[in-house]
Amino acid sequence: AKSNGRHQYVMFRAELQEKVNARIQIERGLRDALEGNGLELHFQPQVRSNGELVGVEALLRWKRKDGRLISPDSFISVAEETGLILRLGNWVFSAVFAQAVLWQRQGCCPNRISINVSAWQFAQRDFVEQLLTLQANAGVDSHRFVLELTETALLQDLPETISKLQQIRGAGFQVSLDDFGTGYSSLAYLKDLPLDELKIDKSFINELAQGHSHPLLESMIAIGQHMHLGVIAEGIETEQQRTLLEQMGCQIFQGFLYGRPMPADQLRQWLADGSG
Ligand code: C2E
Ligand code: CA
Ligand code: CA
Ligand code: CA
Repeated sequence: AKSNGRHQYVMFRAELQEKVNARIQIERGLRDALEGNGLELHFQPQVRSNGELVGVEALLRWKRKDGRLISPDSFISVAEETGLILRLGNWVFSAVFAQAVLWQRQGCCPNRISINVSAWQFAQRDFVEQLLTLQANAGVDSHRFVLELTETALLQDLPETISKLQQIRGAGFQVSLDDFGTGYSSLAYLKDLPLDELKIDKSFINELAQGHSHPLLESMIAIGQHMHLGVIAEGIETEQQRTLLEQMGCQIFQGFLYGRPMPADQLRQWLADGSG
């Protein structure tokens, strides 16, 4: 038993070392990506039930040296722990604004672009100032952008959050509550937050089935309607999901059923083909 214990200890150390190495590699890779051209944005359509394009969500991709595209799910936490998230976040703002300028020049403009903001980024004292500086530098109209923030980001310091949201919205940006329904907090905070939209997380959409009741989903959509907020659902993969959501009063849809996240050029093609 003694030698077994020692064996496990060695295994544990090896595993830990592997994890540390993997994180160091991610950190190094992200730094390189930030300095080189290793980051890109993909865009996923958001549409109304009549098929009209409402906007797109910008989704970050890390293009590794071997050409593989990595989803933020596998690097955002490392970026947050290392503080790199602040540079990443600002890169995303600049890249989205630059893309908006380019689309405008090309006469191919999604009317609005949603941008994911990490809790860490939002928590910075000078978050609003940085956002407004980047926007001014790019010369873009704030009304075309939606900031997607999670409950985690918004509920860390409620008075501070409310003040920041007021500034952000006062400057013309819209605010969407991302991953709505996945947090553990009570809904009491909702009435205090100046928001424009609720974004229902795809985990609720996965469970949608014909002939079943969906009290949570129905309540979430009803809350949005009562509060005069836009309601958007993500992760729509089937016609059936869309129909059920529409019956519940959901107005905007995003998911593989309409289009996957795609590079800007491909989105132009998608728009030109009338896929929207
Ligand atoms: P999210 O904001 O909840 O984004 C939705 C995720 O669902 C995206 O994954 C999207 O590609 C995926 N998705 C969209 N439609 C469907 C569908 O029909 N079926 C399925 N199975 N999945 C669908 P992605 O692009 O890998 O992003 C993962 C998460 O990374 C995002 O979750 C968001 O929290 C974060 N993220 C993405 N871009 C950024 C960014 O620029 N900044 C920050 N801070 N976070 C980002
Ligand atoms: Ca999002
Ligand atoms: Ca989500
Ligand atoms: Ca998320």
